[in-house]
Amino acid sequence: QAKANGKDNAQFFTVGMTERAQARLQMLGQLRHAAEQGQLHLHWQPRVRARDGSLAGVEGLLRWVHPEMGQVSPAQFIPLAEDSGLIVPMGDWVVEQACAQIARWRDAGWPSLSVSINLSARQLQGDELIDVVRDSMARHGVLPGELELELTESMVMVDAEANLQRLHALRALGVTLAIDDFGTGYSSLAYLNRFPIDKLKIDRSFVHDMLDDPTDRAITMAIIGLGHTLGLKVVAEGVELASEATVLRDAGCDELQGFLYARPMAADELAAWREARQPALS
Ligand code: C2E
Ligand code: MG
Ligand code: MG
Ligand code: MG
Repeated sequence: QAKANGKDNAQFFTVGMTERAQARLQMLGQLRHAAEQGQLHLHWQPRVRARDGSLAGVEGLLRWVHPEMGQVSPAQFIPLAEDSGLIVPMGDWVVEQACAQIARWRDAGWPSLSVSINLSARQLQGDELIDVVRDSMARHGVLPGELELELTESMVMVDAEANLQRLHALRALGVTLAIDDFGTGYSSLAYLNRFPIDKLKIDRSFVHDMLDDPTDRAITMAIIGLGHTLGLKVVAEGVELASEATVLRDAGCDELQGFLYARPMAADELAAWREARQPALS
């Protein structure tokens, strides 16, 4: 088909596409071995209770330290992993790492936390995930409520019946379920009734503009009200300002997460953060 556009054009496009495809392919090849070569890490970002600022849980966020490029953003490598299917074994690895970390924190005497990890649509497409979660939880003695999976709105819309059953199976294992980036996906809210969801995470775009933009503030308030009416916990992500935290707390938002409290950090940094915060709590 490209030939029909003329020889020169066809060559031009072929070269451009080849270069991009090769760069992607090369990155994918490196990403494929990143886990076994110790280049993948989970960083942990605190979620605090709005009421008293105490540590409610943490979100695990993947980090790839590339041998030459250094830190690669998840915005770059997660889509690559999703397109290639690599997200499935990579996501299994994340589940295992999260459960192992929960056990380490328990061994260190920390009170039980809710540790959330992000899930991609592909991971929910087979029954493998349920086995992986069950095995990892059992191996590390993870208790009900200690592992939370963050889903996106589109994941509960697509292929609804099969997904519904898988989410029920996960919940039966004691996993809690949160909708991430809430408010940015499909506008149908009907799924909130049908799916066994525990929590809504207000997308940080609303939180970010809330103080300046009455519409974003109204949306944020409406999500908190909707969540509570449905018996769900509501988390605000991307909280950067104390004034945002105040508004959210007054509105009854349950948990706050954002740079105001801490950036995502390695487990040892989190321990130091927690130590430094402890006196303020008691
Ligand atoms: P997300 O799950 O919505 O994670 C929150 C993102 O917001 C994180 O970006 C976090 O660093 C950032 N963030 C937190 N607080 C603030 C704040 O106060 N201000 C601003 N501007 N940003 C804040 P990160 O770590 O770059 O991750 C980006 C996305 O990559 C995540 O969005 C998630 O969708 C995806 N991701 C990360 N790790 C995983 C993973 O293990 N599996 C899957 N499937 N996706 C992942
Ligand atoms: Mg998330
Ligand atoms: Mg997300
Ligand atoms: Mg989010």
